[in-house]
Amino acid sequence: MFSIIEVRTMPFPVQVRIEHLTGHQCRISPLRGERCIGTGAWRMQDGGEVPCPFCPERIPTDTPLFPSGERVCVGESVTFPNMYPFSAFHIVTVITRSHAPGPFSIRQIADALAAQWSVLGEVQGYASINWNHLSSAGASMPHPHMQGIADPEPTAYTRRCLEGGARYREKTGKNYWETFIESERSGPRHIFGSEVPWCAHPVPLGEKEIRAYLPTGALSEAEPYIDTLASGLHRVIGFYRERGHCAYNVALRFDREHSGGDFRAFLSIIARVNPTPAGTSDSAFMERLHSEPVLFTIPEDLPLLFADRR
Ligand SMILES: [Zn+2]
Repeated sequence: MFSIIEVRTMPFPVQVRIEHLTGHQCRISPLRGERCIGTGAWRMQDGGEVPCPFCPERIPTDTPLFPSGERVCVGESVTFPNMYPFSAFHIVTVITRSHAPGPFSIRQIADALAAQWSVLGEVQGYASINWNHLSSAGASMPHPHMQGIADPEPTAYTRRCLEGGARYREKTGKNYWETFIESERSGPRHIFGSEVPWCAHPVPLGEKEIRAYLPTGALSEAEPYIDTLASGLHRVIGFYRERGHCAYNVALRFDREHSGGDFRAFLSIIARVNPTPAGTSDSAFMERLHSEPVLFTIPEDLPLLFADRR
């Protein structure tokens, strides 16, 4: 389901990996990990003097309401329409009352996910639940928040997954996702979880990518797994933190309702460089202009790193 090409660079070889389902390609250069770009010590930055519209005292005046005249509150999370949407339907869920960038409890993550679920469940199209954590991961607001989007068409990578799965079905008569998830569940990249397995992805979209696969495709059918996803996400975020990564991106993508397709909803999380005064980015010409991320952790090493946790 993927291939590896060893490129003989000096002093260490680089792997080029290609995912057959999507055509996605990445490079893995373990040597780059030794540079420790943007990991290690990172001090929490506060909001400074700028008033934060996501802090509890400002949400009622500074954030929009749904057409119903309300915001959706689940636990301490608050959900409202995005003021600057880039999707047909685009919502924001402020995860915590606290402005601090974590740590988060499983309950806080589960409540924010449940809020996204309840609002996205009301709209048509291809939905996803996303989270940019910290400025270096693209968060424009430091106050922790998730974003849900839904559009009549899938995003580019989701489309490649859906079309790749349809091609696989045509060629083999089998469900790509069932076949793939079954082999990952018992393979060298499995980290934890059985019904919802969490596995290092063989051809990562970003550093230390870990995916969780749900046994179902559409948002409405996946609702019973909110707590499982929240506790898994909590474990992976803790693992990232121990490895020196405070910033990350998350995407949980779904098929549309009643598609009759083979797709299985899955969550991806990737580690990002930490915010630095120099503004160092891990998104450079290879990532942005060649669509080919350069990473430093071999996916098959991730389960060992995870097992080594203190
Ligand atoms: Zn705030």
